[in-house]
Amino acid sequence: MKKILNVESPREHYVAKATILWCFDARFANALEKYKAMTPQYIFDVIKVAGGVKSIATPESKIDSDREFVVEQITASIKLHKSEAIVIMAHDECGAYGGKRDALDFYLEELEKGEKFLGERFPEKKVVKLFVAFDGIYQIEE
Ligand SMILES: [Zn+2]
Repeated sequence: MKKILNVESPREHYVAKATILWCFDARFANALEKYKAMTPQYIFDVIKVAGGVKSIATPESKIDSDREFVVEQITASIKLHKSEAIVIMAHDECGAYGGKRDALDFYLEELEKGEKFLGERFPEKKVVKLFVAFDGIYQIEE
């Protein structure tokens, strides 16, 4: 093998402020970086899957394997990095939902479903719900 890049990675272990469940749609990669940059003193664990909250709210798989995979990932983040909260996101025109647009109520309902599911599986964790539009990130108030 040959080294293709010089890059330093920290060896120190860390505590994660939250575990973020985000869609892998690269159009919203910058929004994720900006969200994390709002609190630069904290470190986050990020799980990127198609649809973000969809994997737990309305999983494709009938046998719940999508859900269980994501639950395992969140569990690992909590165990390894003592993550304090879970941030779930849905975004406008998400391809995992067939690109639904002008469907804010639909996406808010998905976030509600995701929060309910996580509340059952991780009752001790705070859940933060985000809707990401093309012009910004909106936090859903309780
Ligand atoms: Zn998406």
